[in-house]
Parts: sequence; C-alpha cells; structure tokens
Amino acid sequence: MKYRPDKITVGGIDFEIVYKTMKHYGELDFEARKINISNEIKEEFLFDTIMHEAFHAVCAIAGLSYIIEDAHPELEEAIVRASDNLFFPFFKEHYREFSELFFSE
Ligand SMILES: [Zn+2]
Repeated sequence: MKYRPDKITVGGIDFEIVYKTMKHYGELDFEARKINISNEIKEEFLFDTIMHEAFHAVCAIAGLSYIIEDAHPELEEAIVRASDNLFFPFFKEHYREFSELFFSE
C-alpha cells in the first residue's frame, strides 16, 4: 500500500494536497487551504514532509504564525525543523514501541 493522501484535516480544517513538480519539498498555502508537495518524494520522507506542513498549519490556525513572524521571520521554520529533526524521530521511535505493545493483537 502506498502512502499518498489527497487531503489532511488539521484542527477540523481540510487541506487539499497537490502533488506537483516544484523546487521545495513542500509548501503550505494557508489561505487556499492547500499543501503543495513535490511529486519526487515518497514513503517516509513524504510522510515527514506532510507532518512538517501540518505543523505550519497548526501554527497558522492557532494564530501563532503572526506572533512568531513578529519575533523573527525565520523563527517558525526553525521551530518546525526542531520538531522534524529532534522531536519527531523521538516520537516515531517511541510510538513504534508503544504500538507494538498495545496494538499488536
Ligand atoms: Zn517549513
């Protein structure tokens, strides 16, 4: 089975996922409720990229993007990358262990 969702829902808001040729891996168009994803990425990297854009959606929906933007234009990206590179690998490892214990039957 291939992982390639056409839509994600964050905080009750649907975001269409559009796969296309593009320079970056992913990009959130919050006003259009759309996430553009490079059609060159797949599997776990695709999953990680969708999680990255979903985190940007979380910041936008919560109104955090405005506050973060005022502090520093690159701060949101740094926070999201801290999640990508530090928190998310930790989460995935522990969630794998957790699900083997509790969902394996
Ligand atoms: Zn980003």
